Amino acid sequence: MKPSNKNQSEKGIASPLPARPGWLIFCPHRNVSSVIDVTVPHLIEMGIRAVILDLDNTLVKWHQEEIDEDIMVWLQALQQEKMELCILSNSVLSRRSERIAGRLGCHFVRQAKKPGKQGFQKCLELMHTTARETAIVGDQMFTDILGGNRVGIYTIMVTPLQKHEFAYTRYVSRPPEKVLMRYFKRKGHL
Ligand SMILES: [Mg+2]
Repeated sequence: MKPSNKNQSEKGIASPLPARPGWLIFCPHRNVSSVIDVTVPHLIEMGIRAVILDLDNTLVKWHQEEIDEDIMVWLQALQQEKMELCILSNSVLSRRSERIAGRLGCHFVRQAKKPGKQGFQKCLELMHTTARETAIVGDQMFTDILGGNRVGIYTIMVTPLQKHEFAYTRYVSRPPEKVLMRYFKRKGHL
C-alpha cells in the first residue's frame, strides 16, 4: 500500500505514528523471520528512509561480530537506496558496536537502555530523521519493539538468529513474549 499524499505531507512526516493503546504498545507493526524479509520497496512504500538496527540476534549472533553474507547483502541494498542506518544496542561492549558500525559506515548508539526513549531519540538526531520516517528492526518485544512504539516509529520484529542469549532474556522475557505474540496474531494485529 502506497502512503497517501497526506502521509507525505510535511505535517505527516514530522509526526510520530499514532500511539498504540493498551497492550498494543508491545505489538510490532510487522513480524518477519529475518531482517532480509524486510524489503527495500516495502520500506520505501511506508515512507521509511532510516532504519534503526538492533545488534545481538538481529544483525549478528549473540556477542559475535561477524555478519552473515545474506544480511550484509541486505544492508548494502539499504545503503544503495540511501537509507540511513543506526545500530542501537543495549550491549555494554561498546567497542563491538563501534567496530561493526565502522565496517558498515553507519551510526551507532551504545548502552542504549532500551526500551528507554533516549537511545531511540539519539538515533533520530544522528540520522536527521523524524519518527515517522524511521523504522526499527529487532528481535525483542520488551526492548526493541516497546521502545520503538513508545517513540512512534515503525516497529519490525524478527525471529532471533539463534537461541543462545542472556539467561534473563531466555527465561524471563521470551515466555511472555510468545504469549503476547500468539494473542496479537489471534486478534488479527499481525
Ligand atoms: Mg537483540
